Amino acid sequence: MQKIIPFSEVTKFHGHVCPGTAIGYRAAKISLKELQSDRPVDEEFLTIVENDSCSVDAIQVVTGCTLGKGNLIFKDYGKQVYTFLNRNTGKSIRLSLKKSIDELDSDFSKIRTKAFSKEGTHEDKLEFKSRKNDLSEKILEMSADELFKLEHVTMEEPEEARLFQSIKCEKCGDYVAEHRARIEEGNIVCIPCFKEYNRN
Ligand SMILES: [Zn+2]
Ligand SMILES: [Zn+2]
Repeated sequence: MQKIIPFSEVTKFHGHVCPGTAIGYRAAKISLKELQSDRPVDEEFLTIVENDSCSVDAIQVVTGCTLGKGNLIFKDYGKQVYTFLNRNTGKSIRLSLKKSIDELDSDFSKIRTKAFSKEGTHEDKLEFKSRKNDLSEKILEMSADELFKLEHVTMEEPEEARLFQSIKCEKCGDYVAEHRARIEEGNIVCIPCFKEYNRN
């Protein structure tokens, strides 16, 4: 039996209702259904997200995949694409959003810009909030097929999360995982302390 996580749980975690969390909520629920899994409690599920928008918070709540556990992988592509893998069955799906926010509500950007402009009044902000709620509602009610292009894909399983030794940065004294450290003039330093070699 699938345990249904209500959207309100996502809102509690994320802090507000928005189209982004609605998209993530739908993507995550579709993946659990397609890959025949309950809300996984540990590492049996893996998600790759290709953006770091509000949607990712919904995905964490619904699938149980988190950054800390290493089964939520972020690729900085700026794409509304979500790939899910059920490690127990080896099956995976890729969901790509079919419509942009502006295609879902043609006035959305205009109202948002107005609400956040210098001249934006309290009413403009309220209007934007109600628009956001309406659009989120719409996304939650659309059919899966209208919302996403769904493909069954084969996913190469990424390497298991490894544990790395920590070493002290010789400049700031913070501990840094060995594989992220840099060497500068023979000294081990962290990334923020490292002066990038740049000839431009
Ligand atoms: Zn949000
Ligand atoms: Zn440092």
